[in-house]
Amino acid sequence: MTVFEKIAAREIPADIVFEDDLCFAFRDIDPKAPVHILVVPRRVIPRVAEADDAGLLGHLLLTAARIAKSEAAAGFRLVVNNGPDGGETVPHLHVHLLGGRPLGWPPG
Ligand code: 5GP
Repeated sequence: MTVFEKIAAREIPADIVFEDDLCFAFRDIDPKAPVHILVVPRRVIPRVAEADDAGLLGHLLLTAARIAKSEAAAGFRLVVNNGPDGGETVPHLHVHLLGGRPLGWPPG
């Protein structure tokens, strides 16, 4: 079971800000910006390179954008890390929503 499944099951605590039938979202435990929220599908897909459900991927992006509006992030960034060199540490697909400060480009 991934740490994100344990959060969904309320086995470990998290600040959950949104949930529906397909996904849930909570604040990152180690935030890299004033707003740092993870949007996670309930279905366990390890990473985007192994995803095949276009509807679910679209739902994750639209959900993240909606949460960004309610978090009053004037500008924001959505990030999906894939694989060890891509910065992935939890093998359960998730979209990072980052905002609340100016974000530099390119990311490291
Ligand atoms: P990744 O590096 O895989 O793209 O992102 C995983 C994210 O999950 C990291 O930003 C990390 O801080 C966050 N994270 C890992 N474990 C926990 C946890 O137990 N609770 C919460 N809220 N976030 C976590």
